[in-house]
Amino acid sequence: MGHFPYNVRSEFSEVSIVKRATRFIVISIFLFIPGISAYAQDIQSLEDEAVAWLQELIRTDTINPPGNESRAVDFYARIFEAEGIEYETAESAPGRGNIWARLKGGDEPGLILLQHTDVVPADEEFWTIPPLSGDIRDGYILGRGARDMKGLGITQLATFLSLHRSGQPLNRDVIFLATADEEAGGYFGVGWLIENRPEIFAGAGFLLNEGGGGSSEDGEIVFSTEVTQKVPVWLRLHAVDIPGHGSSPRPDSSVTRIVRALNTILDNPFPPRAIGPVATYFQSLSVTMDDEWGPAYADISRAIQDPAFVEKLHAARAGHHSLIRDTCSMTRMEGSSKINVIPPEAWAELDCRVLPDKPAEQFIAEMRDLVAPTGVEVEVIMAFTPAISETNTRLFQAIERVTGELYPGSRVLPSVSTGFTDSHFTRDLGIISYGFNPLITESGEHTGVHGNDEQVRESAFRQAIGDYYAVVRNVVYD
Ligand SMILES: [Zn+2]
Repeated sequence: MGHFPYNVRSEFSEVSIVKRATRFIVISIFLFIPGISAYAQDIQSLEDEAVAWLQELIRTDTINPPGNESRAVDFYARIFEAEGIEYETAESAPGRGNIWARLKGGDEPGLILLQHTDVVPADEEFWTIPPLSGDIRDGYILGRGARDMKGLGITQLATFLSLHRSGQPLNRDVIFLATADEEAGGYFGVGWLIENRPEIFAGAGFLLNEGGGGSSEDGEIVFSTEVTQKVPVWLRLHAVDIPGHGSSPRPDSSVTRIVRALNTILDNPFPPRAIGPVATYFQSLSVTMDDEWGPAYADISRAIQDPAFVEKLHAARAGHHSLIRDTCSMTRMEGSSKINVIPPEAWAELDCRVLPDKPAEQFIAEMRDLVAPTGVEVEVIMAFTPAISETNTRLFQAIERVTGELYPGSRVLPSVSTGFTDSHFTRDLGIISYGFNPLITESGEHTGVHGNDEQVRESAFRQAIGDYYAVVRNVVYD
């Protein structure tokens, strides 16, 4: 396990001070700020503000369910009022608040900085600290949301306020947007706002959201930038048949139909396929891989033609395996409520994730055909529309250029996420949406995202404040 000197902020390390100074100079050149030391001071105090804001936001209980995101709206509203920034708010349901603010700029397509303010629940029993702590221990800021995504949310706030404070004319509108409910699907957040406050998104061409991040391994720094994601298609298999007594089973029942349908799905795994963004992603990953995996990742389209490789990938790297095929996880099922009663109805639920080159309707039709012989019905609980954000854009180039200057030798990796974020909503609107966060995580570092003891290294968080600002400046000033 290696580390990168920029991440080491030991005051006793001369090397890190030199590196840090070099970084300020590089950023300063980027930002065309004449006084390097003045900039260093500004960024230092901005970082101090950001750490305090993040602590306060973590302590603001927005665990979803139930959400209570209006508390986060109050938090941001207080800051905007103090800064003299106009903002608007809207509740999609009682307590489910959303807030947005706009810095007016020129005619270029607007840039939205999107965050969700809700967090997932935390099982206190497995935490070594109170989940809403917000305290700093051993150099880490602790608590639910430190990473997903109150940390990035505050990073966006710091950039937004810096643009406002600098007063320089922008080439485009920049929109700060903090929303409810992402962790439960976003229907009380971005989904609701698109229907009820469409003016927020009008004229926007770019959006930055969660879903990306920096990682450092053996001195190699990579910034994964999410450009598309697998599409969730949540299905319920439903069977109805003649009920009866458990002592005299008929050849078919609602339960046996469900079991046959599930077996059919298990016996017919979706054929592997390498879509363009996945092939590019694997190819980039191959650069630093050993001989066991490198050659296969370099040409994943060819590698997946070998069933033995697909099996090996599935066993060793389930996350990567799910990027080369559609998948269905069997997660819930129900039959009778009594052991000796054959029920009239039975059901099972499937969490399917489809690669974004296939329309959900087509996938659903294929599933219906597959299980038709079992007499089971396929109901759709939820299905999104697939979309991929292209990378030959000014925003993507800015991410590449700025991170390349700040971290010489680093790489930007357009990536495909197996999970989903609110970006699918905005990609549907035609807004180029990237999951990006310059925060660098060391290999093996504990993150606790959706798990226990969620935390972010304070030094990495501070560093991301200036780096995010540098990327956005590159896009909003000509
Ligand atoms: Zn999140």
